[in-house]
Amino acid sequence: MNLIVFPILIYYIVTIQGNPIIIDTFEDDWDYNIPPEDKPLLLPNEIHHPLPAVGKLQSIKKPVIIDDNHINASNAELGDAVRRKISCSLCKLGVLLLKNEVNQGTPVQEIRGKFITICVDFKIENEVVCSGIFDVFAPDVLPVLNTTTIGVAQICSLCLGEVCGDVENPLHEWSVQFPVEKKPSLKEKLNYVGDAPTFKVLHLSDTHFDPNYEEGSPANCEEPLCCHPYSTPNSTETLEPAGKWGSYSKCDMPKILIEHMLRHIAEEHKDIDYIIWTGDLPPHDVWNQTRGGNLYILEESVKQMEEAFPNIPIFPSLGNHEGVPAGSFPPPWVTETDASTSWLYTELSKQWSKWLPSSVNNTIFHGAFYSVLLRPGFRLISLNMNYCMSVNWWLVVNSTDPAKQLQWLIHELQEAEDKGEKVHIIGHIPPGDSDCLKVWSENFYKIIDRYEQTITAQFYGHTHTDEFEVFYDAETYKRPTGIAYIGPSITTYENQNPGYRIYYVDGDHNKTTRDVLDHETWITDLGKANEPNSEPHWFKSYSAREAYGMETLKPEEWDNLIDAMAKDKDLFKLFYKYYYKESPVRPVCDDKCELQILCDLKSGRSHYRHHICRELEEIFAN
Ligand SMILES: [Zn+2]
Ligand SMILES: [Zn+2]
Repeated sequence: MNLIVFPILIYYIVTIQGNPIIIDTFEDDWDYNIPPEDKPLLLPNEIHHPLPAVGKLQSIKKPVIIDDNHINASNAELGDAVRRKISCSLCKLGVLLLKNEVNQGTPVQEIRGKFITICVDFKIENEVVCSGIFDVFAPDVLPVLNTTTIGVAQICSLCLGEVCGDVENPLHEWSVQFPVEKKPSLKEKLNYVGDAPTFKVLHLSDTHFDPNYEEGSPANCEEPLCCHPYSTPNSTETLEPAGKWGSYSKCDMPKILIEHMLRHIAEEHKDIDYIIWTGDLPPHDVWNQTRGGNLYILEESVKQMEEAFPNIPIFPSLGNHEGVPAGSFPPPWVTETDASTSWLYTELSKQWSKWLPSSVNNTIFHGAFYSVLLRPGFRLISLNMNYCMSVNWWLVVNSTDPAKQLQWLIHELQEAEDKGEKVHIIGHIPPGDSDCLKVWSENFYKIIDRYEQTITAQFYGHTHTDEFEVFYDAETYKRPTGIAYIGPSITTYENQNPGYRIYYVDGDHNKTTRDVLDHETWITDLGKANEPNSEPHWFKSYSAREAYGMETLKPEEWDNLIDAMAKDKDLFKLFYKYYYKESPVRPVCDDKCELQILCDLKSGRSHYRHHICRELEEIFAN
């Protein structure tokens, strides 16, 4: 297949707020054909961590699992903030108005006034937030609307996906190129040998550290993020004060909770071999963010991790909230220093260099992704999933394999296959999430299919819920080929308990599979922590083997679990309890919500639900 590069080599000069953004070409002459890092970063591993016995499904299905009396939110709250607030028609209206104004050369201040009026009149947000959104996002969005050659329906279909219809968009159809080497025939899968060494891996995700969190401030407010001294109390509700350790409402995490959790992990799990850290460090006040503020949070977060785990290797990946505005990650063809990501990637390479070899600076400077060898025959690849983020506005202009990341990934995977290495992939946004562009996700799905015998697990965050995505063969979508774990968030945003994840990975021995053998989720009950004179008590919520009766955690077992949940309400209720980390304020989940979640679990490919979820829909229709 050919990599279709846009034949648009136009010299654009777009002026916004007096600063020209120059896009001279979409060509990216970066050479992805670089030798993979080949010095193992971990010491030989000889410890065997005993796994719990496999649970019996019959016995775990019966007990009353939840106390429905405490559940007070509605399932209307499900879904991400963008889809909740912005419908397809509103997107089209907003984009149409903005595009017309920009194309007519209306002065920015005038566009600002009109935008704020629409934003407030449609009750999207209050005036402070609407003006903040314009000031933070306009320097990205307006040049993009001025530059793009695609229409309003195509822009909204690209950014919002399936909910906005499958609009034909030839400029956003592209395919990565695979090497000539044929996919090896499928070998019989090995199973873990009972007492062999295992790695214990900590997964932290979505900290959303809020330096402005203040105990006692309004936890229910009019802005999209509360618990600040300057939050506007909600005029129709009784004031709920922010708790000492966090709040279940629209709030992120106070420093005190993060530090408490890190101290607990360091004391409780002294035998962690390495840590994966899948991003989203800053809070959700996206209308208020600055580059300086986000860099401060990055620096502080790295310091917290270094202090808590001074001798443990840490492998980070980049979240969408690290960008300013949130989700903005201009590909390398945006070369103007002011508009490019160099402000972030330069600091990232400095901060991440505490754990990563200097040889990965090439890929980090270029696109904030890297590949490292953990042990001989075992590789970890960290992707920058913001290059598939549907509200990364730069991709509206050109979405073709940003930063050549997927082409580089194929190169790395082919080298790994040739050397007989197994690979774990980490990243922030799950590839099947509706926030991931359809065309990017489609290409990624084919890569997972091609290298299914090399990639033994993937790890993401972003959704804040405890879930997973099963990948299937790219032809029939029936045979499971891969598994992506979506680790629980540290933040409570929204209606969550804080939590973290431990994986046990097949270790160093001559029949190693490098499979994930079990995972545990640890949480704290925030309501109890916030009681007078109390503090968080961290405990193991569940282990996958025990809770779901899984012998191995291979993709086919996760696929079986989805099928079992579709037919067994009690089993789904158990999964749903863990999905929200046992939060007492989790929304009620009706049949529609249940189908949506089960369909998510089958969706390693985004915006393809009508195909992947057909059988599930039939089960729910009967
Ligand atoms: Zn997040
Ligand atoms: Zn995120």
